[in-house]
Amino acid sequence: MKIGLRIDVDTFRGTKIGVPNLCKILAEQNLNASFFFSVGPDNMGRHLWRLLRPAFFMKMLRSKAANLYGWDILLKGTFLPGPLIGERMADIIAGVSKNGYEIGLHAWDHYHWQVHLDKMDQFTIRHSLEKGYSRLAKITGKPPVCSAVPAWKCSNNVLLEKERFHFNYNSDCRGRSIFYPVVSGKKLSQPQIPVTLPTYDEVIGHKGISVDNYNDYIISRIKPEELNVLTVHAEVEGIFCASVFYQFLKKALSKGISFVPLGKLLHENFSVGSSSIERGKIGGREGWVSVQV
Ligand SMILES: [Zn+2]
Repeated sequence: MKIGLRIDVDTFRGTKIGVPNLCKILAEQNLNASFFFSVGPDNMGRHLWRLLRPAFFMKMLRSKAANLYGWDILLKGTFLPGPLIGERMADIIAGVSKNGYEIGLHAWDHYHWQVHLDKMDQFTIRHSLEKGYSRLAKITGKPPVCSAVPAWKCSNNVLLEKERFHFNYNSDCRGRSIFYPVVSGKKLSQPQIPVTLPTYDEVIGHKGISVDNYNDYIISRIKPEELNVLTVHAEVEGIFCASVFYQFLKKALSKGISFVPLGKLLHENFSVGSSSIERGKIGGREGWVSVQV
């Protein structure tokens, strides 16, 4: 059974510390995966402070967000302009590409996209995608082959703008199967590979799930014969939860589960239909996310 393994890199710290840690863990187990990089300014601190509402505060207590993200991330972009990740961490990103991992675009400015997508017009969306795309291409020496919007915040305008780029696929929503997105009755050309499994911060502290039984819970959610895609974060599984993630991979491998970059799933025998993408809710996550309908 093959699981698509997607690694989202949201921050400067995640790129600097989490990415090399994850590459080491993956190399030890001889595994491949897809990395989705954020290459513009790291303003995530601004985002985290803005979310200090009651629901988020409870989540912080549950998942110990300061431990997860590190205080430097909580403060980054709050008082000082965020550093350009792609400029300062180019060697690390290029190294991941050289080591044969699949490289995708996550964001230019993760924070801005996540919070302001509703206010971004078509041109602003295009400009943001172009900046991230060209910076990532410059760093790795080749264009990114895929993309994944930050925080599963997608829209029909985003889908239409992505048609301008030569992505083999996009992973912009939560869902159940590989599909071609439909916008205004028209089937678009780039398939979507949705994420099917929950993320660490969505489930930890809910329904009796703790660090001790988290790995078993995720393994129990894997569906044989169906599409399975897992997202991990460089900031979480690459730093704070690195040993939990290492144990997860070992356990899954011992059960005959293998991990592949998402692009490899396009060559499996999944039937590919068409669906639209709409806004929905995911347990344990604040606000809306894009879901396959
Ligand atoms: Zn992200």
